[in-house]
Order: sequence, then C-alpha cells, then structure tokens
Amino acid sequence: MSKSHNHILGLPRIGARRELKRALESYWKGELNQAALQQVGQEVRASNRALQRQAGLSLITVGDFAWYDQVLSTSVMLGVVPPRFTVSAEAEVSIDDMFRMARGRAPSGEPAPACEMTKWFDTNYHFIVPELYPDTSFRLANTELFTQVDEAIAEGGDIKVVLLGPLTWLHLAKVREGDLAAYALLPELLSVYSQILERLKQQGVSWVQFDEPILALDLDPKVLDYFTQAYNQLAACGIKLMLASYFGPLGDNVAKVLSLPVQALHLDWVRGAAEGNTIAKQLPAEMALSCGIVEGRNIWRNNLRASLQTLTDLQQNLGDRLMVASACSLLHAPVDVKYEHQLDPEIKQWLAFAVQKTHEVGILTKGLRQGEQAIAKELEESDRLVQSRSTSKVIHNHKVQQAVAAIDSSMLHRASPYAKRAVVQAQRLGLPLFPTTTIGSFPQTDAIRRVRRQYKQGEESAESYTLAMQDEIRAAIARQEQIGLDVLVHGEPERNDMVEYFGEQLEGFSFSANGWVQSYGSRCVKPPIIYGDVSRPAPITVPWSKFAQSLSDKPVKGMLTGPVTILCWSFVRDDLPRKDITRQIALALRGEVLDLEKSGINIIQIDEPAIREGMPLRQQDAVSYLQWAVECFHLAADGVRDHTQIHTHMCYCEFNDIMDSVAALDADVISIEASRSNLELLDAFERFDYPNEIGPGVYDIHSPNVPDRDWIVEVLRKASRRIPKERLWINPDCGLKTRAWEETTAALTAMVEAARILRDRDTENTHATS
Ligand code: GLN
Ligand code: ZN
Repeated sequence: MSKSHNHILGLPRIGARRELKRALESYWKGELNQAALQQVGQEVRASNRALQRQAGLSLITVGDFAWYDQVLSTSVMLGVVPPRFTVSAEAEVSIDDMFRMARGRAPSGEPAPACEMTKWFDTNYHFIVPELYPDTSFRLANTELFTQVDEAIAEGGDIKVVLLGPLTWLHLAKVREGDLAAYALLPELLSVYSQILERLKQQGVSWVQFDEPILALDLDPKVLDYFTQAYNQLAACGIKLMLASYFGPLGDNVAKVLSLPVQALHLDWVRGAAEGNTIAKQLPAEMALSCGIVEGRNIWRNNLRASLQTLTDLQQNLGDRLMVASACSLLHAPVDVKYEHQLDPEIKQWLAFAVQKTHEVGILTKGLRQGEQAIAKELEESDRLVQSRSTSKVIHNHKVQQAVAAIDSSMLHRASPYAKRAVVQAQRLGLPLFPTTTIGSFPQTDAIRRVRRQYKQGEESAESYTLAMQDEIRAAIARQEQIGLDVLVHGEPERNDMVEYFGEQLEGFSFSANGWVQSYGSRCVKPPIIYGDVSRPAPITVPWSKFAQSLSDKPVKGMLTGPVTILCWSFVRDDLPRKDITRQIALALRGEVLDLEKSGINIIQIDEPAIREGMPLRQQDAVSYLQWAVECFHLAADGVRDHTQIHTHMCYCEFNDIMDSVAALDADVISIEASRSNLELLDAFERFDYPNEIGPGVYDIHSPNVPDRDWIVEVLRKASRRIPKERLWINPDCGLKTRAWEETTAALTAMVEAARILRDRDTENTHATS
C-alpha cells in the first residue's frame, strides 16, 4: 500500500450560502464590525478544512482563502501598495487598506481611485492588478497567512500552504510609471518570499504550493530563465515545494520546469492529459507528480473508472511519487450541489460542485491505494451515470444533430458582399448621415424587476406580465422618439441577464438555484448549465420586437445574444467539443433571426461581448478558436436577405489584437466600446481599416456623468479621419440597464445634438464645395 499524497489546489471561499459575500457587503456598509467579519472568514476556512479531512485528503490546503482576491492578498503581503493609498512604510497593511485598493474606499482610511481589475487567465474570475512604480519596494507587510496556518496546525495533520508564485505575480503586475523593468525587482521580491517560507517552516508547514499558471502561456525564453533563479533561491529554504501549473499544458515550457529544484510538479490533467504521460516518463527521480485529474472549472461528475485507470497506469511508474489532485483550484466551481432542490433529478445526478469534487479526489485515492474493490460502489455508480449521460433523451436530440450535420458553407456567408447590401439597406432604411442608436437595454427600474420576479414566482399571470412589459416598451419607444434617436430598441425589460434569458427559452439548458461562483470580490455569478443538445422550441424575442416595431415608423432593432457569448458565460457539457455546442446555439439563433426578419424587423443586433474572453491562452489554439467563433456568428446571422441589416456589439476587452476576426464577422454595423480608452480606439483605426459600418462608443455608460455634446462631436470628427463618414454611427459604449433615466435622457440628447451638428457641418461643407 502506498502513502502518496492527495490534495485540492484550493476551495471556494464565498461560503456554501454565500456567507462571506453577505458579511463583506455588510462590513463595507458599516453594518458589521471587523471582528464579526473575521469570525465569518474563520468559519469558512474551518469548514473548508473539515471538508478536506472528511474527504480523506492527506494534505490540508491553507492560504487559498482571500477577503477579496488572491492576487491582491499577495500584493498586500508583499507590501506593494500604490502610493495614492498612503500607508505607513512600517505598519502592517490592514484589511481596510486592501479594500481601498480593491474598491476605492473602506470603513477606515482615505478614499482613492481603486486599482484596475482584470480577468484571471481565461476564467470569469477577476483579480486586482498589482501596480509597480519606480520606487516600489517589498517587505513582509501582512501576517494574516501565518494566523491562518496556526488555525490549521492546531487541528493537526500535514499542512500545504498555497502561494501565488513570484513569476506569475510579476507577470500580472503593471508598470504604472517610468520605464521600469519589472524583472529587475525579482531579487527583492524573492527575498520577501524567502522570509515567508522561513516563517512557514518554523510553523511546521510541510509543503508550499506555488501557483504559476503563466506556465500555460507562450513564454519568452528570458522569462522562463527567471524561473531558475527564483526556484533555486526558494528551494534553499528547505521546505518542500510543489510547482503548480494549470489551465493548460506546459507545452514548450516543460524542459525548464523539469529542471527546477522542486519536490513536486502539479499538472492540469484535464487540459494537459496529452502531454502528461510523456512528462511522467521524463520526471526526475526526486520529483513527485501531482495529477490534476478532477476538473475544477466545470460541474460534471468525474468518470471515476477512467480516472482510476489513468492513475493506476501512472502509479506503475511513479509509485509513491504520484499525488492525486483537482486540476486547478475549485474556486471556479459552485460550492455544494446538496442545496439544489429544484434541479431536475436526472440532471442533478450528473453534477459535482466543489464539495463533491473534493470527495472525488478522496475516492480516487482510496481506489488507488486499496484497490478497485475498495471503491466498487462508487465506480458502479459512476459507470451508471456515464452510461446514462451517453444515452439520455434529455441530452441527445437527433433533430439537432441532423441539422448540425446539414450545415453547409452556403449558410456561412451573406448572399451579397457588404458593398451591395449597404446600397439596398440604405434605400430601405432611409437613415440620415451619422445615425444614432443605443446598444439595447434601458434602465431597469425597481418596478421592472419586481414584475419580473413576481411573474417568475408565479405571483403574476402571463397576461398581466405581458401587459406590464408592453407598457415599459411603449414608454421606452416614446422616450427614444422624443429624444430623436434614429434606430430604436425595445429596451430589454424582460431580460434579467442577456445569457440567462436566452438559456431559459432554449432546450438543453438548466439553471441551478445556488450554483454561485465568485466573479470578483463579493460578486458572484450563477452561470446556466448547458447539459444537452440545444434547440429553440419557439420564437424567443419575436413578440416583443414586433410589438415595439408596431409603435414606431422608425426602425426598431431586434436584439439577440450571440452564440459565443452564450457559450462563454455558461457551464458547458464536457461530452461535446465547444465548437459543436456553439454551432447548435448558432443554429437555434439563426431560426430566431429569420423569424425576426419575417415579422418585419429590418435591423437585428447579435451581441458578442465575450468573443475575446473565450480565446484560448496559447496562440496556436487561438487561431482555430477565432475561426470557429467567427463561423458560428455567420451561421447565426447570414440566413437573412440583403436588405436586413445585421449589427453586432463588443465591449470591455482588448479587441485591438482580434480586429481581423472582428472584421471577418462581416456584420453590416458594429458598435464597439471605446470611450474608456478613447485614444486607444483611435490608434486601432490608424492600424486597421474597418471595412463596414462602425459606431465607436462615444460615452462611458459606467459613469453617471453626462457627456459633453462638443466632446462627442470631437470624437466623431477624429474617427471620421479613418472611417468614411457614410460608415459612422453614434452610440453609447454599452447597454444602459444599470443607469437611471434622468442621466440616460440627458446623455442621449447630447448624442443626438452632436449628430445634428455633424450633419449641419457636412451640408455646409458640401454647399461650400459645390
Ligand atoms: N444588448 C445588451 C445590453 O444592452 C448588451 C450588453 C453587453 O454588451 N454586455 O444590455
Ligand atoms: Zn456591451
């Protein structure tokens, strides 16, 4: 019998019922004191440790807890606080200092502009970006980790502390001032890390897991070389080190990693199985391999028999050097499936959230140590579920599969090229120069939310709900007419969320009641679950759009969420490639697009704000992703006739590097978020000729400030240097659902006035030259 270790890389910290979320928000509001907040944190940690013990994990993970996010906790521990937050150079950086960095304000301390937040690799988790200045220095500035270690040590057992690795931290940091070379800071950074390790060793910690997810990226050889320097120094502390890579294979980084003086290497076996076996064979004799075989980013139960086979094969070579683990931190999964009382039992039995996944790690280890018969019951159950998923009628829909098989290339492009369509559309729509429009949603008032909630809970009849929504649509159309916008929207009052709304009306989707996953700080999202073949039993948006169009002579845009965005913001089935799932969604949407066209809607917008975030981490994979993502947009959009104008919308991402793909969507019009980084967008225009019509977002919808009319004129004037005026639209950055009506009316009025000024100037110019 072997004594190899097993562990998870981290657990969710929001609490099974989002206890930490509630505590944090009360604390920020001043309704809860710091001791009470600390108490909630302690309880979450204690219950996470208890879970690991119950599951039979031999290493108890500590240090995965964070009040806001683990990158921010690391920055705070390293004493890296931007100067605007003024903290004393000797004192401990406090929890409130940390909250000020994250949110701009906290119950104590002076407010200051918050730090930038961005997405953690290809997940929907966000972290606070570390900031580097010419005088940035490092010191051990927060000792909370050691307190957490003491809590765990008091309970006994082997402790593994997780730390964000120095190279990933540096890679994620942004130089804010001067032309600082971030890597020049490495020696000083490492000396603080060494101090931390020293202290953990004194406390009696057995292992330290260094998370270095940048190892799943294409890395510059110079950056790779810093790994040698870093891990040589860290290894000198004499504590056992586990280097953890996840979210993808190591690829070209493997040789470097195998040369490092660490006692264990953790690999994401879900995304990197293909290279895993080769790596296992090359593993140095003194290095253990932690096999991350239980997926951390999804909600499906593990195929235990297949996993046990993989582990058994690995053990033949590795013996005690094999560790069983989750692929990545379980932070990215919801907490406990036990609380799902409303899910269809057939679907629920297929699901494993973080608690269940932790037990799966335990079960697999037991099977590995004591032999198959020790987990015979669990294996049998797992086999039954694998079998039922492969044949279930709720998953497999022949009609959908046939329709996907029948997709041919003629469905993937418009009948005519843009130049020809533009002429037909101009005739039919009769829009002025610089047409004005919005992105789709209008302010979601309490009244709208209440009616929607009551309808969902069965307290409101379908008839009265419809009437209430129609009233909202009528009011939105009237306001837009009054403001003088050219292309109207119905305002999306019926939508709580742009993905959930479509998911609820498509077959193949399910919804958990409590499947929350941390998105940033105290904010959580509850992604829909795509469990089966996707189809559209009935039109979704047509009645609302048709009603809205009946109220106005101006064109009203139909409004859909695109296939890639629906995919990216859901938990998706793991028994079909993402590309195929997206095709199914696209086909369903294609039906909706055609129904909208048939019912007299001349402009249809298909939003794809998530197209950039679905992009794989490595360049090589990104190419094929972009290809199928673009293809799926075509599949959804291209069934229409020339006279129907297709719009798309994108926001809040680095789209400069995917401009070619954006253009390849061949939407007649794109509205694109730009005002937050006004200058950057204009740069993109310098480098890239957008071939069709485009509306650069002219004001930031996250701010309640009303944009200045002349400023909008200026933005458009600049844009028209690169894009012919005939192809320019005027619109806000994004949807307006989070805004109030008062500022919305004022802002849109400024936008419409700006358009008039531009048109008048244009007529003057034409007269002057004729
Ligand atoms: N049509 C959506 C809205 O206006 C688009 C939202 C988004 O881009 N995130 O709300
Ligand atoms: Zn948007």
